[in-house]
Amino acid sequence: MALKNLRSLSKADLEALFSEWGEPGFRAAQVYDWIWAKGVHHISDMRNIPRSLVERLESSYAIRPNALAKAQHSEDGTIKNAVKLPDGLIVESVLIPTEKRITACVSSQVGCSLNCAFCATARLKRMRNLEPDEIYDQVRSIHQQGLEHFGRPLTNIVFMGMGEPLMNYANVLTAIEKITQPEGLGLSPRRITLSTVGLPKMIKRLADDGVKFNLAVSLHSARDVVRSQIMPINDAAPIAVLQESLDYWYRMTKRRITFEYVVWKGVNDAVEDIDALVQLCKRIPCKVNLIEYNAIGDERFQQADPEVLEAYVRALDRIGVTAKVRRSRGKDIDAACGQLANKTLPEGLEAVVE
Ligand code: SAH
Repeated sequence: MALKNLRSLSKADLEALFSEWGEPGFRAAQVYDWIWAKGVHHISDMRNIPRSLVERLESSYAIRPNALAKAQHSEDGTIKNAVKLPDGLIVESVLIPTEKRITACVSSQVGCSLNCAFCATARLKRMRNLEPDEIYDQVRSIHQQGLEHFGRPLTNIVFMGMGEPLMNYANVLTAIEKITQPEGLGLSPRRITLSTVGLPKMIKRLADDGVKFNLAVSLHSARDVVRSQIMPINDAAPIAVLQESLDYWYRMTKRRITFEYVVWKGVNDAVEDIDALVQLCKRIPCKVNLIEYNAIGDERFQQADPEVLEAYVRALDRIGVTAKVRRSRGKDIDAACGQLANKTLPEGLEAVVE
């Protein structure tokens, strides 16, 4: 019989299991601490658990950690990891060091189904959701890399790797719960940002669920005619519907969202484009991150001129909205936004690239 995943059990599941097995109540807390806070890879490594219970657990359960298939180091310090999941599929995670922060950029799905025209991840074919422990392990190993290479612990997490986190809602929220709980990494939810393509129903659900982390929306255009051309999801969730969900988010959470926005020549660099964003930002309390475009070999997309970025920043500044131009990190190793596509798979590993 195939062994079950020990880390798919909640604390309540463990308590129920151990009470059924006639074990003392405190065992559940001990095992929970070993699998999340201490992050053991083998049940037999749980030192304060009696041999008989270890064996009983091992007869039905296993811990299946991610493995690091490859780590590439950028000249700017960024580290891109090819992470091998227990079933052999690969996702990527990125460690981004700055003076004050160590940020983990993590994946929530293998591949992505959204087909944004400018994103390399859209070219991957295989798709499945990551399990909570598969997300947790990416964070944990970047925390360890931070200590090892920079002598500093993890400070921030962004769900900006492969996949759409809100299409893997339950697992992403469970992973965040494990990351933030004291018996996990104990990281404050305020230091976590979930980035979404903008799924209105799911944004409302986040607000209803009272989440405490930050929300970022990949906007790229505030005009339906433009956005639908580059992000197919806009047909199902046009700007007006997205806006309504963001109003709801703000009413419920009182927290400003962040818009992510890339400006391309001839796509969204006209005065109308700036005006449309200004109108949207007047209605929704927000900040804007103007992200540098990372080329993925498609001629249609060219980074706009710096003057256009300045015009965006000035127009937003006039209505009191902060806009920052974000330089990319890790470009030399294809670790920047939209570049995660398993380009450099280690030999012998299953490629998910088409
Ligand atoms: N699916 C989520 C998470 C991906 S985050 C989302 O859409 O938000 C990755 C971020 O990088 C998104 O803001 C995405 O729009 C942006 N991006 C994608 N391709 C890019 C590229 N080639 N250059 C710069 N940013 C890109």
